[in-house]
Amino acid sequence: MTRAISLHHVSKAYTRGIRVVEGLSLDITPGEFLVLLGPSGCGKSTVLRMIAGLEEITEGELLLDGEYANDLSPSEREMAMVFQNFALYPNMTTRGNIGFPLRIESPGDDPGPRVDATARMLGIEDLLDRYPRQLSGGERQRVAMGRAIVREPSAFLMDEPLSNLDAKLRNHLRAEISTLTRKLGVTTVYVTHDQAEAMSLGDRVAVMRGGVLQQVGTPRSVYALPRNVFVAAFIGTPRINLLRGMVRAPLGGAMSISLGRQYMRLPEPLSLDHQMLRVQQGREVIVGLRSEAVRIARPAAARPGEVPITGLVEHLEFQGHEVLVHFNTGSQPAVVPDLEAPYPTRTVRRRRREGSVLNRIRERAGALRAGPVVVLDHPHGVEPGLPAPVVEESRLPGDLVVRTTPDFELRQGMQVPLLVDLAHLFVFDQHGDRVSPAPDRRPDLNE
Ligand code: ADP
Ligand code: MG
Repeated sequence: MTRAISLHHVSKAYTRGIRVVEGLSLDITPGEFLVLLGPSGCGKSTVLRMIAGLEEITEGELLLDGEYANDLSPSEREMAMVFQNFALYPNMTTRGNIGFPLRIESPGDDPGPRVDATARMLGIEDLLDRYPRQLSGGERQRVAMGRAIVREPSAFLMDEPLSNLDAKLRNHLRAEISTLTRKLGVTTVYVTHDQAEAMSLGDRVAVMRGGVLQQVGTPRSVYALPRNVFVAAFIGTPRINLLRGMVRAPLGGAMSISLGRQYMRLPEPLSLDHQMLRVQQGREVIVGLRSEAVRIARPAAARPGEVPITGLVEHLEFQGHEVLVHFNTGSQPAVVPDLEAPYPTRTVRRRRREGSVLNRIRERAGALRAGPVVVLDHPHGVEPGLPAPVVEESRLPGDLVVRTTPDFELRQGMQVPLLVDLAHLFVFDQHGDRVSPAPDRRPDLNE
């Protein structure tokens, strides 16, 4: 029996007044695989533990199959949890470990047949008589999974179950978890801070930040239509390019978005999405360009909906099948707070400090090399009659990362023509909320 899990305006405060989860509402359908995704410390584990009954709900309601469940004990909820640190009993074999929950539940019954069936499902029949120390990390995690599924729970709750494993094994087990949970058809809530894991596993992904749900939807929809700049930046690799821009709509003139000294003129008649930008006129906005929204090509090669800009090659990242080109377009990267852990560890703090020194050096080097930032060599860059954009130009190197095939002969210091596909342009307002494409557009992608 699999469960519908609903959270209605759920909040959690460990210490009085400080809410680490705030007003969370989420409806998880029976059999669904839902991923809770967000940076470390955003409250994911707390949510999972409230669903499991290991943490009290401060405010709001938990419903299991529509029934009020706040006060049910963990065992009454009949859910199985799998943690990052899957603790197996060292003095028990695989058989003993998997059978353990059954022996607790009904001491008189022989757990044998169900243990065997579970081991078969996980492909670990050969390991039944081994002790944990005789198993590899991946095998141990499979045994832990076995212990979770042997009771035929009504839901699986998994808290970063793969994060202690090496990358190859992680990918392998990721596929196994996906196959297994779908075969069993059991509702699964899976917590991770790894967006790639979330995107590959989830039927839907719920993105959290600072205890607050930002967006929930299919992997496709949160990628294609992020509700705000945080979701846009958290999901996708390479990370979306976020540049500070300014919407200009002079009387009788074409609407454009400036990026530092350059600007992208929006084609007339304005699309519905671009019409939404009128209210942003004269305001600073954040322009979001995923790497697939920009290609290296001359203005003459522009297809409908593409506009030219230029970029100076700052840095090339060779990746075999593709190259990531870091361009300086003379615009300023937008800063998104909270992308990292709110309470940085000492190493992170040290790295950040080093990073900033390194950036300053690179900045200076970039400024020396590049001279006056970007030399605009095509007519779309400078339009007579318009006042200079207010957005300050910057000398930060590599503000725009573009993916290309390795056949392009690019070198550092080259000035390269780029085409931006306006169909893939995101614009966020000063609060970070998406204004274009318009929030209610493309309902097919909104969940
Ligand atoms: P995540 O799993 O997303 O990393 P957690 O749910 O573990 O985040 O934690 C969310 C916030 O709640 C953090 O700020 C954390 O320090 C705090 N927190 C977690 N558990 C406790 C606790 N038992 N007592 C007090 N604060 C806690
Ligand atoms: Mg956690």
